[in-house]
This record gives sequence, structure tokens and C-alpha cells, in this order.
Amino acid sequence: MKALLLTDYKKMVYTDVPEPEIGPDDVLIRVKACGICGSDVHGYDGSTGRRRPPVIMGHEASGIIEQIGSAVEGWKPGDRVTFDSTIYCNECESCRRGYVNLCSNRKVIGVSCEDYRQDGAFAEYIALPAHILYRIPDNVSYDQAAMIEPLSVAFHAANMAPHPIGASAAVVGTGKIGMLLIQTLRMYGFGTIIAIKRSETQKDIIKQSGADHCICTAVDNAAEVVSEITSGHGVDYVFEAAGNENSINLCIEICKRNGHIILVGNSSPKVTVPLQAIVTKQLHISGSCASSGEYPACLDAISKNLLNVDLLIGNRAPLSEGPKWFDKLYSDHKDNLKVILNP
Ligand SMILES: [Zn+2]
Ligand SMILES: [Zn+2]
Repeated sequence: MKALLLTDYKKMVYTDVPEPEIGPDDVLIRVKACGICGSDVHGYDGSTGRRRPPVIMGHEASGIIEQIGSAVEGWKPGDRVTFDSTIYCNECESCRRGYVNLCSNRKVIGVSCEDYRQDGAFAEYIALPAHILYRIPDNVSYDQAAMIEPLSVAFHAANMAPHPIGASAAVVGTGKIGMLLIQTLRMYGFGTIIAIKRSETQKDIIKQSGADHCICTAVDNAAEVVSEITSGHGVDYVFEAAGNENSINLCIEICKRNGHIILVGNSSPKVTVPLQAIVTKQLHISGSCASSGEYPACLDAISKNLLNVDLLIGNRAPLSEGPKWFDKLYSDHKDNLKVILNP
């Protein structure tokens, strides 16, 4: 089969690789769409250590079942599916408590790190255990279904806010996850939603996503503007989707006393934070990792037109053009919308 193989850092080829084999509990899926994630682009040059060559990347995908293993029940060839980006074991202590995102034996699809190598969906076929599959409703396209994985990350973060109705929220960092978060928060019934980003680009799409205000740190003093908007109180819920020291410190500054900060971004391995501000403002800071069980709600929301993932799809291209797109996304650090590759 054809696949995009990362043969060395910054070197990707569209080439022939052996078709994956399925075990009794697996299905073989013919991939129809797979989005390029920021983590794939960051892994491309080896900086994260999570895409060690040779590896086929790609974990935001959808397709059609081609073949099922002997022990698989409830699925048949021809079923349209998407799947969790994490293969969880369903047996460890975390899985048993329902936190499949925190599985001790988790393998992320399209990741190759010190502990494991799990080829991903930038290929004609992928073999996966049947227990991580979700059925795609008829009126949801394969490209839309490839957006479910990042959308589920946004849903999972939004679900960490205990009382969303009418509460104020800020989203710091407006990459794809940040923008999906804005749409999600709007759908969840949040009140004032403030987007905070570095540059002045993409303001229109951020407003269309449901943000009431879009603050650009390159030209505005974000903390002052938030203070004006919130009459000096700060924001009830701050969602951090950039993952660096400046943005986390901004979150702490703009969060209301006894407010919540939900950390989604994690590009910097370590950051320095003002301990005394966290304690004296009594802030509730939580990490939000991937998703656990949000897929059906995401598929339902797209099917019912409650949000619009198409807004974030910038380009669609055949899988054979993958190397060109990786090169482009890697070298130009502009705000890019989602690129979806279709095998
Ligand atoms: Zn991703
Ligand atoms: Zn587990």
C-alpha cells in the first residue's frame, strides 16, 4: 500500500509499505481522510522525540472498514468509522475508572517514542483494535470526521468547567484546538468569550467561531483589556491552548479569584509560575489530556450542525502531496488552518 513514511527527521516520502495485518480483535480500515496535527509538524524535525523514524504519522482520521478480525462483533466491512487517537487497554486501573485517556498502557496512533511505535493513518490502510472505533453518522463527511479527534480535545477541556452557563471564559492561544474550543464554549452556553492570540490575523474566523472579543498581544496589553471587559474582576474560566510560559502567566493574571485555569497546551516541558498569585487568588489549575469518551457527543454535535468544523479546514490534498504539505507547514509558521490528506 501507499503511505507517507518519515524515513529521517524532516524527510518524508510517499512510498510503498507492507499492508498491516489484523489480529482477531482488530479491523482493517481503508483511510479516507487524515488531518495533519500540529504535533505531527512538531515531531517532524525530532524536537519532541515522539516521531522517531521510521514511522507513519497521522492520528486524526476516518475511513471505511475493509476487513474484520475473527473475534470482532458489531462491525462489518463497509461501516464508516472514526477512531480514538489513543489505543487504550480497557484493563488498567485508569481505564477501569473510565479515564481511558490516562491508560497506563496507552499508545498514541502515529507516534513512535522510547516506549513504543504505533504506525498511523497517513496510509491507504490502518489496522486498529475494534474497541476504539466510532460510527460516523450518514450526514457527516469523512473530512468532518477527521476533525473529531481535535474537537474531542476541546470538548474534554470544556467538560472540566463545572458551571459553564453564562460564565465568562478566555481562550489563550488560537491554533486549531483553541478555535475549536471557542466554538465548543459557545455551544456549551458560556457568556462572554474572549480569544487571546499573538498576531492580528484570523480575527474574522475567531469571531465567526463565537468569540465576543479577540485580543492580540502584539498590539494590546491583554491583561488590561480583559480587566476592562470584565469590570476588573477577571475571567471565570481560562483555557490555555498555547503551552508556553508567557501564556500561562497571562492566564494566571487574567483569571478571576477562585477561578479556573484549564491547561490544554503543553509545548514547553517546564514553565515558571507565580506561586503566590496562584495561592492568594485561590486558583484551580487543571491539566486536560486528550479525551475520554467525548467522541459520540462530538459526532452528534457535527451531525446536528451545532458547530461548524468546516470553518477550520483550510486545504484538502491527496496523500501523495503529503511531503509538500509537511514541508510547507514546517517552514512557514503562519496561522494555518487544518490540512486534510485524502489517500
Ligand atoms: Zn492531533
Ligand atoms: Zn488502560
